[in-house]
Amino acid sequence: MRLAPTDEIREFQLAVRAHIATHRPDLPRLPGTRSPDSVDLPAYRAWCGSLFSAGLMGSDWPVEWGGSGVTNPLRDFVLDEELAAAQVPRAIGAWNLVCGTLFEYGSERQKATHLPRIRSFDDLWCQLFSEPEAGSDLAALRTTARVDGDGWIVHGQKVWTTHAHIADLGFLLARTDPLASKHAGISAFIVDMSAPGVTVRPLRDITGASDFNEVFLDDVRLPAGAMIGAPGQGWEIARSALARERSHSVREDPVVAKVERLVGIAGRTADSTGTTLADRRDVRQRLGQLYARARATDLLGFEGVLREASGADRSYDAPVVKLMFSEANLDAVTYAAELLGEQAVHGEDDPQAPDDGYWQKAWLFARGYTISAGSNEILRNLVAERGLGLPR
Ligand SMILES: Cc1cc2nc3c(=O)[nH]c(=O)nc-3n(C[C@H](O)[C@H](O)[C@H](O)COP(=O)(O)OP(=O)(O)OC[C@H]3O[C@@H](n4cnc5c(N)ncnc54)[C@H](O)[C@@H]3O)c2cc1C
Repeated sequence: MRLAPTDEIREFQLAVRAHIATHRPDLPRLPGTRSPDSVDLPAYRAWCGSLFSAGLMGSDWPVEWGGSGVTNPLRDFVLDEELAAAQVPRAIGAWNLVCGTLFEYGSERQKATHLPRIRSFDDLWCQLFSEPEAGSDLAALRTTARVDGDGWIVHGQKVWTTHAHIADLGFLLARTDPLASKHAGISAFIVDMSAPGVTVRPLRDITGASDFNEVFLDDVRLPAGAMIGAPGQGWEIARSALARERSHSVREDPVVAKVERLVGIAGRTADSTGTTLADRRDVRQRLGQLYARARATDLLGFEGVLREASGADRSYDAPVVKLMFSEANLDAVTYAAELLGEQAVHGEDDPQAPDDGYWQKAWLFARGYTISAGSNEILRNLVAERGLGLPR
């Protein structure tokens, strides 16, 4: 989507473009929240750190923590747009969830320790929320943190933890009061992923990659100062972090770009009768529908950003955007697979693969967006209850 920017935003946009032109990393842009190869990690950290030090990422942070003090959510939106258009990577990890949480709930010491290292990208964070029996029903989590001297001992298991295998720190939810009600007994913590007792086991996803993991926490000792906020405040902290996560997925992996790419393919591919796909009426109609949906999704995301900028965002905006995005995305790549037929199943290692195997990966990866950051069924419930006021 193209904006008609104010002078301030236009200046910011030009600064992003200039930075990309001079610092462009030799790294692939990965769809979604994919983990980079370990060999690329140092370059990845340097690139993301450069976006912070140039004031392009985290520009809305308070001046004392390295930001410009200008709070304009449009800046993040513009940054994501420009990174996607230039096909350069965006920052991975749970840094965005963590910095928002630290600003709101963190102690001065936690801010001083962690915020500079988020900006330099010396620390990569993962999100230790989901458990084998606590995904949609996150408040059912069973990992415990019991007081031990001035710290805590954590015991339990997490699952689906994206980036845990490359993360330095984890943003953990654990039960600190087993006698309190389900939601009230949870607290939030910072975990050093290299601490004794932390074991990370990669899980292979449908694309063949291992981006997420099981994490076993076997009597891991957390020092004093590891808790974020107060005991029992974990549920409130998790809800505020998840709202931030949902509102961002639309900008990770824009659907408009995918449909435009597909239009390009339709223009240069013929079907079995020798007709160019783009000359077929049914193909043009489907592409038109998909493009309209993709644009509507973008605009809805943009409206959410504008509402946030005016201080009036609503709790059900982010779930609506995430629903729209993940379903438009899934439909676009499913249609790509239909259109390309058997060609679509060729992976990146196959010389016959169209677009270097992009469509196989995009298709397989798209399902994940309908589950991550809250499954679409759960988000529909949220929209119905909070947005439309329907009974539970
Ligand atoms: C790509 C990816 C990355 C992820 N990364 C992370 C991460 O970094 N950190 C982390 O903590 N978690 C992560 N997750 C986990 C994610 O948050 C959970 O998968 C999600 O919350 C769903 O939980 P579950 O998998 O346990 O499914 P379940 O909760 O077992 O749900 C199974 C099915 O039942 C449906 N269902 C459940 N309850 C209801 C209900 N009340 N009404 C209607 N339908 C219902 C669900 O919609 C789903 O279709 C990731 C997941 C994916 C796919």
